[in-house]
Amino acid sequence: MERCTATTEQIVQKLLHELSLPHDLGSIQFNSSASIGIAQFPTHGTSAPELIKNADAAMYAAKLAGRNQYSFYNDQMRQQAIARSNMEFDLQVADRDNQFNLAYQPIVRLADRQIYGFETLLRWQHPLRGELKPDSFLAIAEDNGMISSIDQWVMHSACQQASLWRQQHGQFSFKISVNMSCRQFLQPNLVQDIQSLLAKYQLESSQLILEITEAMAMQNIGQSIRVMYELRELGILLSLDDFGTGYSSLTYLKKLPLNILKIEQSFVHDLGVETDNALIKSIIDIGRNMDLLILAEGIEQQHQFELMTKLGCQLGQGYFFSPPLNSTDIVLT
Ligand code: C2E
Ligand code: MG
Ligand code: MG
Repeated sequence: MERCTATTEQIVQKLLHELSLPHDLGSIQFNSSASIGIAQFPTHGTSAPELIKNADAAMYAAKLAGRNQYSFYNDQMRQQAIARSNMEFDLQVADRDNQFNLAYQPIVRLADRQIYGFETLLRWQHPLRGELKPDSFLAIAEDNGMISSIDQWVMHSACQQASLWRQQHGQFSFKISVNMSCRQFLQPNLVQDIQSLLAKYQLESSQLILEITEAMAMQNIGQSIRVMYELRELGILLSLDDFGTGYSSLTYLKKLPLNILKIEQSFVHDLGVETDNALIKSIIDIGRNMDLLILAEGIEQQHQFELMTKLGCQLGQGYFFSPPLNSTDIVLT
């Protein structure tokens, strides 16, 4: 048994390594990773369906452990698989019964603290568990494909709200910033769909900001650059979310047609430590040299606001200015 486990581990490690190597698809370099779940006969099941089901549960545990990992099945996973399947069912009900809503967090110009725009943040009003934030359910929705329906709803609702604000305040010139999922970003009709939505709600394309992450852009860098140029061509603004947490490759940063660079919250929270200040200063300088607007996420305190302003950041977001709000709590003047 011991020897068998060691061999299994060696095989999966080799598989993970091979699968993580970049693949050349013509002119495009494609990066991928795998998550592997392992169930062994007879310890984890005595029939093929049972083994496959348990290997599947182990695979989700591997994904949760950060992807590019493997996991052996254990009994705790059975409980997690049940919780997951309950969540999947609840998500379908949520979609059907309109349990989702959007919160809007102001993005502020640091120079005068005036509102530049609003980031839309997804919320789920679960009938039993109360308000749920995206980190507790989006990964499951991405895995089972429900994300497509949620994405559509988010994009639609964000544009509808912007249009409503525009009707109420003729001079509405704020931006609406929408977080994209990986699947949505690589969906073939993305550009046409967004174009039709903008037309439907009579919005200027420059009012819409789409937020992507480095990981999303890097999944298929060739297609990402192409799609981003098409979106830019339409006049839509592109923002790189959570900059500093992923690859943070300057080579790719130069290739992506971006407008805004969002510095990840942890940098802002660590402000004050001299080396971090120097790091943030160089990120801001590089971004500004590339003609990007620099936005600091997660500003919670006065000194963070003052320091980010001093370091040359133009935009900010965080509890210091405002938490995410219901649309009804936003009074535009
Ligand atoms: P994100 O886009 O980086 O959003 C910023 C997160 O930081 C939000 O968490 C926001 O509520 C929180 N935040 C804002 N100000 C502060 C602050 O001062 N301090 C701290 N500690 N946190 C602050 P939230 O709403 O839980 O969203 C988490 C992530 O879920 C988002 O990160 C985004 O990646 C994703 N997400 C949110 N809405 C959507 C959506 O509609 N579609 C997709 N695909 N992803 C979404
Ligand atoms: Mg965001
Ligand atoms: Mg962010």
